[in-house]
Amino acid sequence: MRKKIVAGNWKMNKTVEEAVALVEGLKLELADVVGVEAVVCPPFTALKTVSDLIADTEIKLGCQNMSDQDDGAYTGEVSHTMLKELFVKYVILGHSERREYYGETDAIVNSKVKKALSKNLRPIVCVGEKLEDREGGNTEKVVEEQVRGSLADITAEQFEDVVVAYEPVWAIGTGKTATAEQAQEVHAFIRGIVADMVGQEAADGLRIQYGGSMKPANAPELLSQPDIDGGLIGGAALEAQSFAGIVKAGM
Ligand code: PEP
Repeated sequence: MRKKIVAGNWKMNKTVEEAVALVEGLKLELADVVGVEAVVCPPFTALKTVSDLIADTEIKLGCQNMSDQDDGAYTGEVSHTMLKELFVKYVILGHSERREYYGETDAIVNSKVKKALSKNLRPIVCVGEKLEDREGGNTEKVVEEQVRGSLADITAEQFEDVVVAYEPVWAIGTGKTATAEQAQEVHAFIRGIVADMVGQEAADGLRIQYGGSMKPANAPELLSQPDIDGGLIGGAALEAQSFAGIVKAGM
């Protein structure tokens, strides 16, 4: 049985003051949640504050990026040691915005994934096709390339700490959601690739989130699909009630 995981990617939103207000709301809204892992991924500047605020709750802390280096002259980067000091557990890696605007390739994502796993941080590895890929019939080709490239050389044992987020780029922040059938099809496909890479047992244990305009209204149908094990939430994670609504849909 895979435990569902719903993570909120706040992106470049929320000052520290705003983060406090959101987390106070989440603590109330999520107090009676059982059986679903809820993760918040604030911007780096709010990590310490949020970490302190959720220390006595079941809410887990994540972040949105990480360096593949240990320390040193890497201006603007943040290391695994710095994140672990703040009790970060999950790291979103290879988000489509990082791939698109900051040139992150599968090789770079793979290097970060390996670093995270070697330091006991759990990567949430994002993959997903663009609109032109889907319209050109290339969804599976593109997704397979990203899965194999971003997760190259990861062992079956290490896969226990990996979460994959399938996020069709055309559905992110657009209000267009993949239908439950479209999403389920790609999730099952990803699980099949992972089975081929590291074996069926590891693939069966892998949690695969859906991301792309997920909201309380469409979450129940998406989360009831056999291969959809949670959500990676952007816009709807910026407000306590809507994020909690999605988490509760996974119960
Ligand atoms: C995301 O960016 O990971 C995302 C899924 O965003 P949204 O929910 O706003 O589409």
